[in-house]
Amino acid sequence: MKKIAFYGKGGIGKSTTASNVSAALSLMGKRVAQIGCDPKNDSTRLLLGHICKETVLDKVRRSEVEEIRKEDIVHTGFNGVTCVEAGGPEPGVGCAGRGIIVALQLLDRMKALPPVDLTLYDVLGDVVCGGFAMPIREGYAEEIYIVSSGELMSLYAANNIAKGIRRFAARGKVRLGGIIGNSRNTPGEKELLTEFAKELNTELIAFIPRDKIVNVAENHRQTVLQYAPDSPQAGVYKELAKTIWDGTNLSIPTPVTFEELERLAAFYGT
Ligand code: ADP
Ligand code: MG
Repeated sequence: MKKIAFYGKGGIGKSTTASNVSAALSLMGKRVAQIGCDPKNDSTRLLLGHICKETVLDKVRRSEVEEIRKEDIVHTGFNGVTCVEAGGPEPGVGCAGRGIIVALQLLDRMKALPPVDLTLYDVLGDVVCGGFAMPIREGYAEEIYIVSSGELMSLYAANNIAKGIRRFAARGKVRLGGIIGNSRNTPGEKELLTEFAKELNTELIAFIPRDKIVNVAENHRQTVLQYAPDSPQAGVYKELAKTIWDGTNLSIPTPVTFEELERLAAFYGT
């Protein structure tokens, strides 16, 4: 079974890309589970066609653990994709990363996930604190893909995630699978991301155009794969799904300094 994760800055397009990749993999005949690890709880919305009504943490808060049934926390979305949302604390209370720890441990204990060929963890990567690092640290995910645009703050988050991966790669199987560029149409973006990936000892494995079809599909609560399966954008996600499935280019990342990020952004982005 392949165990992968998408990390990246909040709002960069992790869940959208993850859901389209999960949908594409399912259409390739693979059995897929997508686990949302972001207190926003909307990772699987485009696969389910609605916001997840009950996250694992909601269920844990409301019931005795012994009373929780698999079907309360494990949902089925587009083309049979298994969907789970770890959930998070009420705003202003508790630690967001803690939800991920509780949820992943409970899923394990209950053996709640059906047999799958690939599990995709969709993880917020603004801060790689203990909770958000858990999928990497505890071996839940072995191949990490970082979603980034050419914006400096997105590169900054990506570089921090690379630092986290490097730390845990020293004593485990976790590796960086590549950078997924999700375009914000910044100047020199593709060249910048290509060079950034090279400096991190990895590759830019996709450069996803910014396209209105993504937003239109989202307004219908669908992935592009479902809403416009023959569109060029759907083709881009299909190609990415194949690249990830083959997953041949795994590396231990070499993060850079903030000054180097600034230099790259200034060199390519003008
Ligand atoms: P994250 O999961 O990283 O927080 P989302 O996947 O929720 O980010 O994406 C944030 C917003 O950006 C969404 O409204 C989504 O529709 C939009 N978006 C993501 N990727 C693209 C793209 N390639 N083209 C156009 N809009 C996009
Ligand atoms: Mg998200």
